[in-house]
Amino acid sequence: MSIFDKKKVSGITEKVLRMVLEASKDAYPNEFAAGMREIDGIISELIMVPGTVSGPRSALLRLNNLPIDYSMVGVVHSHPSPNIHPSSNDLNMFGRYGRVHIIVGIPYDMNSWQAYDYQGKEIELSIIR
Ligand SMILES: [Zn+2]
Repeated sequence: MSIFDKKKVSGITEKVLRMVLEASKDAYPNEFAAGMREIDGIISELIMVPGTVSGPRSALLRLNNLPIDYSMVGVVHSHPSPNIHPSSNDLNMFGRYGRVHIIVGIPYDMNSWQAYDYQGKEIELSIIR
């Protein structure tokens, strides 16, 4: 155990996950994107991007408007398809920014999402009810 283990993100609240899935459905066929904030290693809050009018592929660009702080762990975004693998643009963004990222895809349900680390490797997050 090192002091860094404390900072490990191990879960996401069911409430936040449901908000993401709903917002992604609403944004379809455009992408939804938001910042995520953790409390004690659990993703517990979304940070909406100011002026969110998302178009295909443009949602992530608006992340430049996000307030960055230490409790922000990364970004969640939706794909307007069932493909929840990171694109090369996504991988680029993962590497620049944050340490946990989530991609959700069609049909935007509890099984159609995946979390990734900054290198694009799949990571497990528990759903906290
Ligand atoms: Zn993507």
